[in-house]
Parts: sequence; structure tokens; C-alpha cells
Amino acid sequence: MVDAPYFITLDEARALSQRTLPARQTEYVPLDEAHGRLLAEDLVSLVNDPPFDNSAMDGFACAYDEQATYPCSLRVVGVVAAAGDEQQITVRPGEAVRIMTGAPMPPGTNAILPIERCELSSDESSVQLLEAPKPHFVRHLGENLRQGETGLSQGSFMTPSRVGLCATMGHASVPVFKRLRIGILSTGDELRSQGEEPKYGEIYESNSYGLVGLVQWAGQEAVRYSAVTDSMESLRAALNRATEECDVVLTSGGVSMGEFDYVRRLMEAEGDIHFWRVKLRPGSPPLFGTWNGTPLFGLPGNPVSSHVVFRMLVAPYIRHLFGTDAPQEWRVRAKLADRVKSTEDCLTMRRVTLVSTDEGMVAYQPRHQGSGNLESLASADALTVLQPGEVGEVGAWIDVLVL
Ligand code: AMP
Ligand code: MG
Repeated sequence: MVDAPYFITLDEARALSQRTLPARQTEYVPLDEAHGRLLAEDLVSLVNDPPFDNSAMDGFACAYDEQATYPCSLRVVGVVAAAGDEQQITVRPGEAVRIMTGAPMPPGTNAILPIERCELSSDESSVQLLEAPKPHFVRHLGENLRQGETGLSQGSFMTPSRVGLCATMGHASVPVFKRLRIGILSTGDELRSQGEEPKYGEIYESNSYGLVGLVQWAGQEAVRYSAVTDSMESLRAALNRATEECDVVLTSGGVSMGEFDYVRRLMEAEGDIHFWRVKLRPGSPPLFGTWNGTPLFGLPGNPVSSHVVFRMLVAPYIRHLFGTDAPQEWRVRAKLADRVKSTEDCLTMRRVTLVSTDEGMVAYQPRHQGSGNLESLASADALTVLQPGEVGEVGAWIDVLVL
């Protein structure tokens, strides 16, 4: 039997795996390639945002006058467009300028009335303000970000709006963490590729496809290797190659108690196992260790299990390495509409569908929960987070992770 911490909690497994991390490296990418990446350094703004006081509305700019009554008529002394103007118009009391959204506020103005509340005379020489102009329609220099201020911190997951913010701050390229190369190695004599004819007893290999998707979701680079047959020799050769070429390796299958569970047997004999089996259902068989010094997660073979273990163990490992909290599933409360069986000693993650109601989220468990039933995961919205021994009776409010 494996001589390493055995059947430990998820928290213990995370802590143990996070002691053995690959190196982080930084590279610069142009903004169009930044989406989905993780920022490697704090990013400061090169400019004030906005860089000058400007109008938030199309309308008329003037000085706010506490004494004035409305409607009130002002002389129109010019127009300022969004690109601004070399010659600034100075606006005096009793005067207004036509202004476009984003145009710099002319000297002498501090309030805007949107065009819908203004009536321009037919010769356009004067304007009637139907109500008082609004100081809050002025966007002030640096009110969003000051020059030199940190706009995005290290580890930020680059969403579309964050990529846009980099551009606002004046950056054409940004430092991001190099993607980890994560090798994916399926094991099992029974696995066939799509397009091949499975013989009796054989199935289509699917774990590697789900895992490639998860690796990409986590913002990393997936490297798929051909599925390996169940023998010490072929597995050893495949592990040597994958650990040579990748920063982290994920295997699937072969980590249970069976005689043909060669990942466990080989890691035990020639690798270094840091733990084996976790109190998680589905997904209790995983192991973690190193092969030739490269971190290796031995994921279970059952498709739902390998997926759940990636989300609960591998994704937190990646987030920890890069000091980020994204991407990550939302954890929300949901009321059970069906009874969900928990287990005595494991964190139980059943697949549920969610319906949003006036009361909050309601969770249904419409599918049979075998860990080989990938359709039950494909059609699920969330995973239950039932603590060991927690009773998932109908009507109970529980935590779920939204997928
Ligand atoms: P194992 O842990 O190797 O005993 O595998 C457990 C179950 O998962 C068995 O039913 C396997 O056929 C299945 N399985 C293992 N690897 C894969 C894979 N890559 N794709 C789909 N099913 C798999
Ligand atoms: Mg197997």
C-alpha cells in the first residue's frame, strides 16, 4: 500500500499539493491576446482617467447658477465636439455652449443639461433650459483613476472589460504569466479514439477532451498525449515524455485499488506520491506526487470524477500558483427540491439543475448520479457542496457551486 497521507480531506489535499509548484514565468502579450490570461504584475495607469473634465451627455454646458429660475434663456456662444478644440471658448454668465458627450468642459462651465431638456431658438443663437443644469453630468479629471494609480493588480484574470481598462490606461501590451503546459495522459486498455470501431468491452476515450477544456478554461495550455495501455513499460515511457515536455501532468484512470491500476503502482514503485485518495465524492481515488520532479495529478478514470477533481483540486492549485481567485465557480445557496444523498466521510458533490425563483435558487437532481454518467454533468448547472454527514433533505438550503 502507498506510504503517504491516505484518504485525506480536500483542504489537506490542496495544502499538500500546493507545496510542490512549478515555476512562474512572465511574458508580454499585445492586448488582443490578453483575454483569459493572468496579469503578472500590478498595472498602473499611464494617464488620468478621464484625462480632462468632460461632459457625460450631449447637451448644453454653462455655469451652475443657484439664483436662476427655470425655464431660463442663455446665449449660445459655440459648439465643442468630442475631439475638443484648440481654441477654447470661455463661457460667461448668461452664456452656454452646445457640447457633445466626451467633449472637454470649456472654461467657465461646470454643469450640463441634456439636449432633451433644452429648446434651441430657430436661429440657434439662444437656448432655453427647461430645468437647472446638472453638475453630476460632468466627468472630472482622474475621477476613475489617477495617473500612477494601480488599476489592475497582479493575478487579475483578464476579462474583456479588464483588457479594455488596460487600453484606457495607455498600455498596448501587458505582462501576463506564461501559460503552464499541462500534459494530459489517459490510461486504459479499453480506450478507443473517435472514428475507430470499439470492440466488445471497449469505450470511447473522453476524459482527455473534458480535461483539455478545463485546462483552457483555467487559462492554461493543454497538451494531449495518446492514451496509454495498461502496462508498466508503456506508462513509464509516457510519463517520462510528458514530464519532460510539460510543467504539470494530469493522468486519468489507473489510480484505484485494482491490479491494473498502473498509475498508482508505478508512482508507488518509481515516483514520489505525496498523497493518495481524498474525501470527495465523486472523485475519491486521486493521487498527487512528482515524476522526475514534475508535479503530477493522478485523476480518477470515471469521467465525472476526473472533472470534479480537476475543479476541486487542480484548478485551486493553478489559482494558488498564480495568486488569483479566477476563474472560479460561484458558490450560492439553493433549496433542494429533491433529496440528495450525502456520505458520512466525504464532501458530496452531486449534479443538480437550478431554477431561479422568487424564493431564491431551487436545485433539482433529475439524473442518476453514477460517476460514469457524463450526461448527468453535461446537463447540470451546479454541484452540491454537502459536508460529510450533512443531510440533503427536500427543502434544505445548501451551498452549490455554479458550473
Ligand atoms: P479506472 O480508474 O482506470 O479503473 O477507470 C474507471 C472507469 O473510468 C472505467 O470504467 C474506465 O473505463 C473509465 N475510464 C478511464 N479512463 C477513461 C477515459 N479516458 N475516458 C473515458 N472513460 C474512462
Ligand atoms: Mg483503467
